[in-house]
Amino acid sequence: MFDTIPDMAASRAALSPGALAFRCRRDWTFAEVDAAASGIAAGLTASGLAEGDRLAILCHNAAEFFLTLFACQKTGIILCPLNWRQPAPELLDTLAPVAPRALLHDAAHAGLAAEIARAASLERHDFARLMEWAALPGPAPVPVPAGRPWYLLFTSGTTGRPKAVIQTARMAWANALNAMQATGLGAADRSVNYLPLFHTAGINLFTLPIFLAGGSSTILPKFDAAALLALCRAGEVSQFFGVPAIYRAFSLDEGVGEVDWSAIRCGCGGAPLPEPLIRLFAGLGARVLNGYGMTETGPMGTLMDPASAETKIGSVGKAQMLSELRLDGVAPGAEGTGEIQWRGPSITPGYYGDRAATEAAFTADGWLRTGDIGRRDADGDLYLIDRLKDMFISGGENVYPAEVERVLHDHPAILEAAVVGVPDDRWGETGAACLLLRPGATLEAAALRDWCRARLAAYKVPARIEVMDDFPRTAAGKVRKADLRERLA
Ligand code: ATP
Ligand code: MG
Repeated sequence: MFDTIPDMAASRAALSPGALAFRCRRDWTFAEVDAAASGIAAGLTASGLAEGDRLAILCHNAAEFFLTLFACQKTGIILCPLNWRQPAPELLDTLAPVAPRALLHDAAHAGLAAEIARAASLERHDFARLMEWAALPGPAPVPVPAGRPWYLLFTSGTTGRPKAVIQTARMAWANALNAMQATGLGAADRSVNYLPLFHTAGINLFTLPIFLAGGSSTILPKFDAAALLALCRAGEVSQFFGVPAIYRAFSLDEGVGEVDWSAIRCGCGGAPLPEPLIRLFAGLGARVLNGYGMTETGPMGTLMDPASAETKIGSVGKAQMLSELRLDGVAPGAEGTGEIQWRGPSITPGYYGDRAATEAAFTADGWLRTGDIGRRDADGDLYLIDRLKDMFISGGENVYPAEVERVLHDHPAILEAAVVGVPDDRWGETGAACLLLRPGATLEAAALRDWCRARLAAYKVPARIEVMDDFPRTAAGKVRKADLRERLA
């Protein structure tokens, strides 16, 4: 699809120059975004960077990030956002396959940036210099090759070392078209950007799609439940995306009841969304649509149809029009269970600087393997069973932790559950349920096992129950199960 794509900031600015694009510390119109991105393109080029060079960026969410992203599209310089929650040695290790030439940072990360730049011999630029560049006269816009690496995004690192996933302009447009057709988003929409920009959701759900559609985004430096709920209450948000951890945080905040949720299209994805949370938000008038995707898929893959939001709880819906899905070993369109595989213009060409990982990620006929097991029902709706890596075998039977977690999430004392397989002399492996309890709640292990026994086959009932204060998590709030297994060992 599409060999070249018009410069995104320039073509949007030509259509609606005076409309609001970003609200951050100041307001930015589309024309201002494009002019600043052009100036930054000139500044980056003058600093010695050229097409194909990698530019790392370390910052909280800010308009400057998106100005730089568009500047990179204009020049072919590849932007690589870094996770500011990683300490310097870990960041340097993650960065190794990317081998950037320069590092851009905001004031809040000057110390960490200096450390990284010194250790990796990178040229360093701060946002003050960036904004000087923004005033420079820029180059005339030219169409960009659609499949050229535009920026790199690290996977969440839920199952291991984060991988640098190549993102292209073609992927971004395919994702935006998927989002537009799935949710109907357009120029009147307002979104809020608060998820970290070093993961796909922070950029692509829905800031970039809204930008392309001509709508606006308020940019918050980082997650802040009270600030987010205040924006929602003020009618500043029509399109919202959160991961389950965000909805869980909202559910504990008193402000959640004061929002007119019926006026906001709410999406969720990235990790299993427990049914009690869906019901709680339904009670507040919100329809939270569950979707499925990954960094490698741009990310939007599937989304629930609003018409079946109440009847198909637990499903992630159907594949969107520009993303083709198959279940390994299952006939096209048929009911069945298998590994989810993807093909289409929103799928990454591979992992940057890691040919072996790229080759391992694709089948011989070019489909992306996800490592996720899915089931398709008679209506064609997809249900995620679990990650292949998290499945364990107890007494010869496959156990998918997500199924056990669903049962635990129905228990009134449990706020969050994470189940992992741990070695067992008799059964090979058995389940260990790690639990966070609701404030003030107590729980008796024997009673909980009885509760599980009434709802699950005996081999799925967790042999071990551990109440914890929190789980080891990724920046997106996902539970790092390998770390949890280590903690239990
Ligand atoms: P890593 O690849 O580094 O281990 P990750 O897979 O968590 O990390 P992401 O690309 O952010 O990195 O997440 C994609 C994964 O998240 C999917 O492969 C799937 O396992 C999980 N996921 C996405 N959406 C959902 C959902 N709605 N319900 C359950 N799991 C989901
Ligand atoms: Mg992954």
